[in-house]
Amino acid sequence: MPDTVPVAFPLVRSRLLSQFPHIVFGMSTRQGAANGEPYGFNLGFHVGDDPARVEERLRRFLDALGLAPDEIAFMDQVHGDRIAIAEEPGEYPACDALATRVPHLGLAVRVADCVPVVLYAPGENLVAAIHAGWRGTAAHIAAKTVAQLCETYGLQASDFCAYIGPGAAACCYEVGADIAALFPAAVLRPLDNGGAMLDLHAANARQLADAGLHAENIDADPLCTVHNEALFHSHRRDGETAGRMLAVIAIQEETE
Ligand SMILES: [Zn+2]
Repeated sequence: MPDTVPVAFPLVRSRLLSQFPHIVFGMSTRQGAANGEPYGFNLGFHVGDDPARVEERLRRFLDALGLAPDEIAFMDQVHGDRIAIAEEPGEYPACDALATRVPHLGLAVRVADCVPVVLYAPGENLVAAIHAGWRGTAAHIAAKTVAQLCETYGLQASDFCAYIGPGAAACCYEVGADIAALFPAAVLRPLDNGGAMLDLHAANARQLADAGLHAENIDADPLCTVHNEALFHSHRRDGETAGRMLAVIAIQEETE
């Protein structure tokens, strides 16, 4: 079979966010590349993969969401807590959260173990995409994004819905004592070696609940990228040549 034959690929969706017809959300997985593509369905340009293949996959992935590559705002993610407001497509430097009120402008977060968090304020034409690895989570980036958007747009935290996507889960995410010390005991399972298993999904869900989101408006997907090898890329598992997945959220049309 020629390696240009497209293969169907799955998208990770949010049960909560799928209720809202005004937005579109999807996250890519490792599956969907043609035979012979060593990185699988990789959407990262800096992992050693053929850029032409990455571009082709990006087009296919975005097409499934009704978007095009020139309608996407990307982040130059730095594991920090800076939030940028996106008004147009392109690459936003040194930030780990993007928000927009612009229809048909997709916000992309690039992940391979770090947890993608997306926000939507129904009726407010406002979406956000957040990159929450352990550093961003320790810096409370999801809660800070909610707080900043509330201040900027005059909203309440209870106006928001959140989806916390697949990432390194508590089953596989061992951290040392120095990192564990940055998190509350409720999201850690201590180990005999002084380290702990860290639950990034629970940590982000707690932060969003503490920020004021209603529990029923937080959809936390505990799927683990590390041990679900057939489905997900994982930096922890595969190292520097691990592929990358994208989670993208966009407003499809303005709420009436
Ligand atoms: Zn796992």
